[in-house]
Amino acid sequence: MNARLPLRDPNAPVGAIARASAESPDLKVSFEFFPPKNQKMEDKLWASIEKLAPLSPDFVSVTYGAGGSTRERTHRTVARMVKETDFDPAAHLTCVDATREEIDQVARDYWDAGVRHIVALRGDPSDGIGETYRPHPGGYAYANDLTEGLKKIADFEVSVSAYPEQHPESSNWSVEIDNLKRKIDAGATRAITQFFFSPDIFWRFQDRVLDAGIDIPIVPGLMLQPNFKGLARMSKMCGVAVPDWYAGLFDGLDDDPVTRDMLTATLAAELTAELRDRGVDHFHLYTLNRAEIASSVGRILGLHNRRKAELAA
Ligand SMILES: Cc1cc2nc3c(=O)[nH]c(=O)nc-3n(C[C@H](O)[C@H](O)[C@H](O)COP(=O)(O)OP(=O)(O)OC[C@H]3O[C@@H](n4cnc5c(N)ncnc54)[C@H](O)[C@@H]3O)c2cc1C
Repeated sequence: MNARLPLRDPNAPVGAIARASAESPDLKVSFEFFPPKNQKMEDKLWASIEKLAPLSPDFVSVTYGAGGSTRERTHRTVARMVKETDFDPAAHLTCVDATREEIDQVARDYWDAGVRHIVALRGDPSDGIGETYRPHPGGYAYANDLTEGLKKIADFEVSVSAYPEQHPESSNWSVEIDNLKRKIDAGATRAITQFFFSPDIFWRFQDRVLDAGIDIPIVPGLMLQPNFKGLARMSKMCGVAVPDWYAGLFDGLDDDPVTRDMLTATLAAELTAELRDRGVDHFHLYTLNRAEIASSVGRILGLHNRRKAELAA
């Protein structure tokens, strides 16, 4: 039945997405990239960086391939960022398949190249995710050991991982939260989360973290992967639940990358806006080295005018 609705101010932001774009000096975004394998991928990465630069990220980070397989490429990418951009780059570093001396040397090389921020991780078993992890006999065993080692080398800022749906190897929540606490005790000052699809997953995790008296920022990681098949595979390996409604939206789109992109951007926008609406003030975007979706999320957060404002100030 038709009913008269109260009229709203046409200029007032209606809905969480519009509200999320309200100017906020405290709001931060960070972007995660992976080191390119060849010249074509390198060109794409740097084009993406150029497009995302106006969003003034708090920092950008570059991943480290399984078992240190991208050691040189990660270093080269991060060192180029230090030289050629205004970004504050963070280098990911893992413990897998390396001695302490080797890792310490990688860290010293970063410090000498001007890198002050490390994302310290244990890393996945070199035989693949899901296989049994065995620490290198002469290496750092877990991310807390690596964090402690890094802090002895230099006064790095250290970020670590956190898992709103538990790391698959944690037998229960107290093991999970105790591990996060150990990493903080070792010197980590920020945790970046594994990706997730429902805001409630993040709120529940935040409650557990607060109950444990943890007070470092827990930054939600948002995955911007439009290839649903790949995303579903990765989610399964990482113990991340993909809700049925989310999967259903991608049904039949295997050969339709444009619609998949649009859906991914829309769903990321909704998740971002919902988190923003309830107080989240830092978002870490897994960009997959593409700018389009990350840039639309940045716009929804009202960040596109920030660089202009900074330059004008
Ligand atoms: C934000 C983010 C960025 C990432 N970047 C990369 C990357 O660049 N390269 C890459 O290879 N991987 C990356 N990963 C994946 C990560 O390496 C894997 O999830 C890995 O399985 C765990 O690493 P962690 O640092 O979280 O491990 P940890 O925090 O060390 O914990 C891993 C597991 O071991 C358990 N544990 C800890 N200490 C002990 C102990 N003493 N004895 C027994 N069990 C213990 C913990 O409870 C947990 O279940 C990233 C993950 C996230 C969330």
